[in-house]
Amino acid sequence: MIEITNALDLAEIRKDFPILQREVNGKPLVYFDNGASSQKPQCVVDALSQYYLHEHANIHRGVHTLSQEATVAYEDARVKIANYINAEHNEEVIFTSGTTDAINLVAQTFGKRYLKENDEVLITAMEHHSNIVPWQMICEENGAKLQVAPINENGELIVREFQKLLNERTKLVAIVHVSNTLGTVNPVKELTAICHEKGIPVLLDGAQAVPHQQIDVQDLNCDFYTFSMHKLFGPTGVGILYGKKALLNDMPPYKGGGDMIKTVTFEKTTYNELPHKMEAGTPNIAGGIASGAAIEYLNRLDWDAIDDHEQRLLIYATKALTKIEGLRIIGNASKKASVISFIIEGVHHYDLGVILDKLGIAVRTGHHCTQPLMDIYNIEGTVRISFAFYNTKSEVDICLKAIERAVKMLKG
Ligand code: PMP
Repeated sequence: MIEITNALDLAEIRKDFPILQREVNGKPLVYFDNGASSQKPQCVVDALSQYYLHEHANIHRGVHTLSQEATVAYEDARVKIANYINAEHNEEVIFTSGTTDAINLVAQTFGKRYLKENDEVLITAMEHHSNIVPWQMICEENGAKLQVAPINENGELIVREFQKLLNERTKLVAIVHVSNTLGTVNPVKELTAICHEKGIPVLLDGAQAVPHQQIDVQDLNCDFYTFSMHKLFGPTGVGILYGKKALLNDMPPYKGGGDMIKTVTFEKTTYNELPHKMEAGTPNIAGGIASGAAIEYLNRLDWDAIDDHEQRLLIYATKALTKIEGLRIIGNASKKASVISFIIEGVHHYDLGVILDKLGIAVRTGHHCTQPLMDIYNIEGTVRISFAFYNTKSEVDICLKAIERAVKMLKG
């Protein structure tokens, strides 16, 4: 693999992702569904097969060589992830099965312990179902209330209204860092500071932020940060919960079982130290190790160059799309990640998605797990294009032509 230092060499980068060379329906693949899941560099696939072919054993419990090697590799991946997000302590990084699982963990531990009747959890109107439903569930269980901070027509959080909703009953604020539907980048550092002034902890859903920027959890000063490795060019089935050590230590365990215990008798169990207290049972060992390989890959990239490249793609595609008759972009925040949702008058999003697929172009259609947001815009769904750093301007051109062609077909 080529060493990537301080610029984006797209031709070289694309060689690292074998799937990008394939054809779909007889056309070169144009993969614009990175918001749903991103593609994997060869080194991640190699790490998975290396582990299964040569290193597999269960971790944390074995005295034998294979088990010890697998344990070292798995724990090493935790350290790489902790360093990557600049966590103060390695044990602040908890392996989960995904963002969804990470948010449920906090809801079922922190939420269960600290939410009392009439307490409140504050979210925003642009949350993914994963950052709505777990809070609804625990609020219902504990007699607490879910409050929702509104957005403006451009898809930006109305900070004034957000502030008004914070009060002495607010026990947690949970905010999406980057909206998967609108592309909005929320001012999460500022929002966190506002909440902390009132002593309220903050969880950030970083699922769509991590593929576009490097995260520094200490700089954000958030209490919890969650993301999925499969959106970060890593394997499926692995998620990360970052949590401040003091908070995690005070929280009850999530699930009961092996690995999360110190001692067990039929009368009483004492719990393991962090991070193991939150990680019951055999984890996704292969996925954890391959996540370490993904992080190593990402460490070689120039993230300023990535931001520059993705913003160029975003601006270029947005301008061109806007020229298509009847097309309306949903989400026009002043600060956006490279995600574009749109609808076209007289064209169903699903039909457009199917035609684009016939032309080798993968986009997302539907409500994107943000049904309440669709209700706010009074729409059923959108077509969503979401870029990753390996996408190119010529792919955007192919997609634009294909959309124009599809619209002609569909409008007759
Ligand atoms: N939050 C956001 C903003 C997302 O985009 C997603 C995935 N679409 C999730 C949470 C859930 O991630 P996962 O399905 O990997 O748990």
